[in-house]
Amino acid sequence: MIEKLNPEQQAAVTLPAQHALVLAGAGSGKTRVLTTRMAWLIQTSQASPHALLAVTFTNKSAREMLARLSALLPINTRGLWVGTFHGLCNRMLRAHYRDAGLAQTFQILDSADQLAAIKRLLKATGIDDEKYAPRDVQRFINGAKEEGLRPDAVEAHDPYRLRLVEIYRFYQAQCERESVVDFAELLLRCYELLQRNGPIREHYQRRFRHILVDEFQDTNALQYRWLTLLAGGGAPIFAVGDDDQSIYAFRGANVGNMADFERDYAHGTVIRLEQNYRSYGHILDSANALIAHNTARLGKNLWTEQGEGEPVRVVEQPSDLLEAQWIVDEIKSLIGEGSLRREIAVLYRSNAQSRVIEHALFSAAIPYKVYGGLRFFERQEIKHALAYLRLMDNPDDDTSWLRVVNFPTRGIGARTLEQLSDLARERGTSLHKAAPLVGGKGGSNLLKFAAMIESMAHEAQVLTLPELIEHVVHHSGLLAHYQTEREGADRLENLQELVNAAAVFAGEENFDGLPAGRMVELPAAAQAGPDAFAPASADTAVSATPAGNQAASDTAGAGMAAAGLIEIDAQHGMSPLAAFLSHASLEAGDNQAQAGQDAVQLMTVHAAKGLEFDAVFITGVEEGLFPHENSLMEQSGLEEERRLMYVAITRARQRLYLTLAQSRMLHGQTRYALRSRFLDEIPEEHLKWLSPKVRVPVSSAWEGTDVASRGWNAQRRGDAYGRPATGQIAPRAPRSLASGVTVGQQQFRIGQGVRHAKFGDGTILSLSGSGQDAQAQIQFRDVGTKTLALGVAKLEVI
Ligand code: ATP
Ligand code: MG
Repeated sequence: MIEKLNPEQQAAVTLPAQHALVLAGAGSGKTRVLTTRMAWLIQTSQASPHALLAVTFTNKSAREMLARLSALLPINTRGLWVGTFHGLCNRMLRAHYRDAGLAQTFQILDSADQLAAIKRLLKATGIDDEKYAPRDVQRFINGAKEEGLRPDAVEAHDPYRLRLVEIYRFYQAQCERESVVDFAELLLRCYELLQRNGPIREHYQRRFRHILVDEFQDTNALQYRWLTLLAGGGAPIFAVGDDDQSIYAFRGANVGNMADFERDYAHGTVIRLEQNYRSYGHILDSANALIAHNTARLGKNLWTEQGEGEPVRVVEQPSDLLEAQWIVDEIKSLIGEGSLRREIAVLYRSNAQSRVIEHALFSAAIPYKVYGGLRFFERQEIKHALAYLRLMDNPDDDTSWLRVVNFPTRGIGARTLEQLSDLARERGTSLHKAAPLVGGKGGSNLLKFAAMIESMAHEAQVLTLPELIEHVVHHSGLLAHYQTEREGADRLENLQELVNAAAVFAGEENFDGLPAGRMVELPAAAQAGPDAFAPASADTAVSATPAGNQAASDTAGAGMAAAGLIEIDAQHGMSPLAAFLSHASLEAGDNQAQAGQDAVQLMTVHAAKGLEFDAVFITGVEEGLFPHENSLMEQSGLEEERRLMYVAITRARQRLYLTLAQSRMLHGQTRYALRSRFLDEIPEEHLKWLSPKVRVPVSSAWEGTDVASRGWNAQRRGDAYGRPATGQIAPRAPRSLASGVTVGQQQFRIGQGVRHAKFGDGTILSLSGSGQDAQAQIQFRDVGTKTLALGVAKLEVI
C-alpha cells in the first residue's frame, strides 16, 4: 500500500502522531495520502477504524474515500466517521439531540427553505422587506453563525444593524418553535454542544485518536474551531490542502486557516508534494502558467513524468447552442473512440449554463448526470413530496406545512392562513396545533388537512420508505394534480425517481442491521437520551489498546453500546424516513439512484473540486462569465476566479477542452462577450485553436479600462440569431452581427471606433438594448468610459 507512493508521500503517510499540514498542488496525491494514512493507522494497529474522524468537502468525495479505504483494507466501512462537516455535525446532533436542545425529529432547512422561512418571518412581524431584503438577512444570519455568534454576541451600534440582530433573534425563535435547523446552525449547534457539555466533549476527544481533514483551504472560522475543540484531548490533526484551490471565500472560507494551523499546531511539520500524477504536461503547464498570475500564493511547483500529451483544445462558437452542439459532437466521437461516459465531464461556472448543454445531450440521447446543478431535491415537485414526508415526522414544521397546506388546492385561502398564523403566534404554537382554533369554512378545510397528515403518519408505520413515498404522492393529491398539469409528465417522472432514490438509499449501507427500509421501533439506546449517557471506561480502552482488526474494534464498539454511548452508529438512532430526509437536505443534487450509471458528468466548477476525469470540457470561457462579472470589482475577486479556473483545468487527466460562445442567452437576455482573459494567460504553445482565433485579446484591446467595464460587453433583448422559440438552432449568423446593434441607418459593433462631438474619439466596449433603446458603453481616449443612448448621442463611426 505504501510502496506505491513516492518518498514525500510515504513520509506524510507514516508521520508519527502529531499535527501536520500537507501543502501541495492539484493532483499531487493529497487525498490519496490522507486515505492511505487512515489505512496505515489501522493496519499498524495505531488506531481502530472507529477512532478516526475524517472530514471531506462533499458527500461524493466521502463516498470515494470510503471506497478507496475498503479497497486498501478488508474492513467494513459502515459507521465510520467519514463525511462532510455538515454530515458529521448532523450525526452528532441526532445522537445527542436532547443535550443540544433539539427535538428528536428536527428537520434541516436547505438554503431555499431558509430564505422562505425568513420571508415568512418578515411578513409576520411586519418588517419592511425592501429595507431588510430577505437575502441580506439570510447572509447576515449565516455570516454571524459562521463566526460562532448568537444574536446577543453580535456587535451592533447603528439602527439598521440593531434591527438585523433583532430579526436574527426572531428567526432563531421561529426555528426553535418549528424544530428546524439551517446549515450554519448544524455546525454552530454542534460546536456549542461540544463546548458546553464536558462529558460529551471528553467522550469524543477520547474517542477520536486521529483527525484528518481534506481540502483544508476551504474551512471557515467555525469549522476550524470545531476541529481544534475535538482535537483538544490530544488527537493530532492531519490536514491536507492547496491554497491555490481556495474557492469558497464568498461563503466565509478562510484560507488563512492554513497559515494559522501551521503556526499554532503543525509547527513546521509541513510536507510538500510536487509531483502531479493526474494530468499530462500541456494540461499541467497550462494550469501552472495561469495560476502564476496570482499574487497572494504560498508558492508551489508541480511537475509530471507523464509526458506532454495533447495540447489543450480551444473552440469558439457563435452561440451557446452551437457551443453545446459542438461539445456533444465531440463527446460522441470520444465515446466512439472508447471513452467511458462517466470519464467525461462538462464543467461550467454558472448553473444557468447547464440547461442548454443538457438539452443538447438529451437530444443526442447521451445519458448524463447533473451534480448540484439542477438540484434534484430542489425541484418543485420533489420539495412538495418531501414537505409531506417531513410532516409525517414533524407536523410542527411550519415551513413544510405552509408549502403544502394548499397544494394541491384545498380551498384554503390567504385570509385563513393569516388568521392561522396570528393564532399560532399568539399561543406560541405551531400552525398544526393552532389549526383547530380557526373557525368557518377555511377552518374546517385546515382541520381536514391536519387530519390527513396525521392519518398518513399513522399509515407510515407499516410501510417501507419507497412505499411510504408512493403512498404520500398518491394520497396527498400530488399525483392527481400533476396528471392534469401540462408539464406534469416530467414532474411525475421525477417523483418516480424520488421513489427509486429512496429504494436505493434504503437498500444501501445506510441501515445495515435494519430490515431494508422498514420503519422500525427506534433502538432503545437512541430513545434513552441524556440519562443513558455516561462516559465509558470501555471507550478509554479503545485508545489505550489500539484495536488493529475488525474483531477488536467490534468488541470495543459493543462495550460502548453497552454503556449507552449511542453515537457509535448514529444512523441507528434515526428512522429510515428521518435519515432519508437528512440525506435529501444535505445531499441536494446528488441523486444516488443514478450513481452507478455510466453517464456524462455535468457540474459546476465548484462542485468538481477534488474530482478527476479523463476528458474535461470547461465551457463559457468568456469575460463576465469566467471570470464572473460579479468578481471583477476587486482584485481578490479576480484571484478567486483564477483559482477556480485552476481547479477546473486540473480536473483533466488526458484531454482538456476550453469552449466559448460569442453570444449566449442567460437570464432571458442575449449577451455578447469577449474571450476570457484566462485564455490569454495560458501560453500559446499549450493551446490548439480548433476555430479561428480572430478576436482582439482583452489585455491589449482594453488596456487602461477599469476592470469593471470589461465584463459582459453587450446585453440586448432578443436574439441575434433569430433563434426560434422552439429551440431549433438557427444557421450561423455573419460574424459582424454577433456583437452589433442597428440604430436607424447605422450599425454599431463592439470594438468599433466612434467619434462624439463633445467627448472625442473612443471605442465601443459594450452594447445593450435594441433600436431606439440601444445603449453603448464607450471608452473615450480623453474623458474615460461613458454610457450613451445611441438613438440620442450623434456618433460617427470612424
Ligand atoms: P486535488 O488537489 O485535485 O484534490 P489531490 O492532491 O488530492 O488532488 P489525488 O486525487 O489524491 O490528488 O491524486 C490524483 C491522482 O493521482 C489520483 O488518481 C491518484 O490515485 C494518483 N496518484 C497519487 N499519487 C500517486 C502515486 N504515487 N503513484 C501513482 N498514482 C498516484
Ligand atoms: Mg484531493
